[in-house]
Amino acid sequence: MQRLTSPLTLSDLDNLPVSRLKGVGAKKETALKSIGIETVLDVLSHYPRRYIDRTKEAKIGALQEGEEGMVLAEVLDVQTIRTRNRKKIVRAEVTDGTGILEITFFNQPWRARQLQEEMHVVIFGKLDIYRGKGRMTNPVVDLVGDKTGRIVPVYQQSGKAGLSTWEIGAWVADALHKSRVRGFADPLPLSIRHRHNLVDRTTALTNIHNPTSIGETIEARNRLVFDELLRIQLVLVARKRIFELANHGIAHDFQGKFIDLLLSTLPFQLTGAQIRVINEITGDLQSQMPMHRLLQGDVGSGKTLVAVAGLLGVVEGGRQGVIMAPTEVLAEQHYLGISGLIDSMKVPCPETLMGERPLRIELLTSRTGQSDRNHIIAGLSRGSVDIVIGTHSLIQEGVEFKNLGLTVIDEQHRFGVDQRAALRAKASGEEIPDLLVMTATPIPRTAAMTVYGDLDVSILDELPPGRTPISTKWVEDDSEVWEKVRSQIAKGKQAYVVCPLIGENETTQKASVEKTHKRLIETELKGLEVDLLHGRLTGPEKYEVMTRFRDGATDVLISTTVIEVGVDVPNATVMVILDAERFGIAQLHQLRGRVGRGDMESWCFLVSGARTDEAVQRLTALESSTDGFELAEIDLEIRGEGTIMGVIQKGRNDLRLASLRRDKQWVEHARDAAIQLLDLPKGNDDISLLIEEVEFLLGGAETEYLFKS
Ligand code: ADP
Ligand code: MG
Repeated sequence: MQRLTSPLTLSDLDNLPVSRLKGVGAKKETALKSIGIETVLDVLSHYPRRYIDRTKEAKIGALQEGEEGMVLAEVLDVQTIRTRNRKKIVRAEVTDGTGILEITFFNQPWRARQLQEEMHVVIFGKLDIYRGKGRMTNPVVDLVGDKTGRIVPVYQQSGKAGLSTWEIGAWVADALHKSRVRGFADPLPLSIRHRHNLVDRTTALTNIHNPTSIGETIEARNRLVFDELLRIQLVLVARKRIFELANHGIAHDFQGKFIDLLLSTLPFQLTGAQIRVINEITGDLQSQMPMHRLLQGDVGSGKTLVAVAGLLGVVEGGRQGVIMAPTEVLAEQHYLGISGLIDSMKVPCPETLMGERPLRIELLTSRTGQSDRNHIIAGLSRGSVDIVIGTHSLIQEGVEFKNLGLTVIDEQHRFGVDQRAALRAKASGEEIPDLLVMTATPIPRTAAMTVYGDLDVSILDELPPGRTPISTKWVEDDSEVWEKVRSQIAKGKQAYVVCPLIGENETTQKASVEKTHKRLIETELKGLEVDLLHGRLTGPEKYEVMTRFRDGATDVLISTTVIEVGVDVPNATVMVILDAERFGIAQLHQLRGRVGRGDMESWCFLVSGARTDEAVQRLTALESSTDGFELAEIDLEIRGEGTIMGVIQKGRNDLRLASLRRDKQWVEHARDAAIQLLDLPKGNDDISLLIEEVEFLLGGAETEYLFKS
């Protein structure tokens, strides 16, 4: 009984179907369902996309040429016009009684369906004068109906589902009205609310939908954003605590003699950042807590060496290590590189005459032949293989380690959370092996805090000295790039050509590579040694192609993005990326990182006739910066966080308002609050409602931890 008068929790709201709202019949119910709205909670968290501040309204008759303004007007007439080059233009006339305005849309034929005579619309745009008439081109248009409030919320509407912003507004209003008696339960402890100057939940939910000033919408948004981010941080911080408290990590016992040996044979000095990060990692390895660390570092910052140092510490301590790479080419290259580094090292082996044996490192991929495979697998379970390098096939059944001590995952963006978990499960016995995840696709700090909030983060923010920055140039077509390619090859250098991305699958990629190859060897690259690389080649074939290129037998390698990750041929100085607009910022930056690995000047040409705003922004960003962290910020800016957030929660998408870009400081506040709340004694009443809410919205194993007393 208590429950029926107590304030409404989110889960209570989720138990009320939309059909309880005024005006929602079977038809509207289906329409709402098609856009993911089934319950009153869904309605209330369908937040306005923006607000129209009627106090800022301009009159058509008073707007000056070149001035931006918002007008409220009625549609008089709508026409669709076809231009000579078969483009469609939609032109409408609207009036607010003070004058007539013409609005024109290019390439938006659907506007003819959206705008109908006598409709009331709000139009934002810049006035220009065309043939004596006032006109706005591609303005922002909102259909608001006959709203009277000063601040009018505008909801994401759905033409397809036949739902308008004013209908949604009315249901939201009804939901708020029906909730008024009980009010909304506020799970946030007062101390936290006060510290961050946040309004209570009832105020927040009311004012986000029904504000009387823009100031109120900001306060409401702050509170709701904080709630969203706090729930995620609670899960992530809890996940981290689970690992730490499990306390079954391995305290690796080593002095660092293998690491010293490695460093003494290097032809170069470590960067300051490498020294710092190696210390962070060895510190973690030697401690009892399980390491769970993300290593971010730009292409070429020397992550591999850092990982090898960690592996050697572990091997010295008598355990095994594994590196998982996303592609076979990369696994092979790691294998070659690392074998070279640890060439002459010996590990203790009491069974042998000398009491020691060579440190054994093996490569295991899906291309490994059956007998080698059996041999390696046996060695792993016996403990006679110290380090194994491979691809995903490492997590297949049948691979058991005698005493795995450290897992290194290279280029983590290719791996999902699930794979991370699967690997962790590979650990036998009670002890959890340490985990190091390396990524060359840096993401901004606050984003890392959200996506990888359960990991510690190390950053290699310094490139080894002597690197000459890559000159990057965006060109309209490829005619001007080949001269540079040929002149570099004449100087004994090599080049990569990355082919257009066609479709997703490897067969179409292969076709793209073959077509490009055919065109170039008959024209621009005639007479040069040109080779092809694509995903359709077998492991040994790829290996052969890469070896020829590495040995300098090939001048130009025409390839798909197989070469994206990690391939290291310092003699390659030119990279040509065809149809560059098809790749994302991170991918282009990765690709570009294949050149400029030696101390010679190098070039990257982005060939693209792209004209869309987004593509232009991406390509100019790459032209102007070679700093992966800076590019990551720009990427987040351009794309929004949808893609990043995709990684984190499989269940309900709980980030509706929060933006990792705009709400950086709230991410940090939420993290602080989560840590503070989880430090409270277990079973503390202050946060029981909050925990219930996290459990309800995000579910998952972490909430068990949150509940555990
Ligand atoms: P990442 O994996 O971070 O892209 P790598 O580990 O592949 O970078 O290193 C890139 C290249 O730089 C390799 O050839 C490596 O031997 C070299 N390298 C690593 N650390 C240093 C250093 N401190 N000074 C000079 N060269 C280095
Ligand atoms: Mg690497």
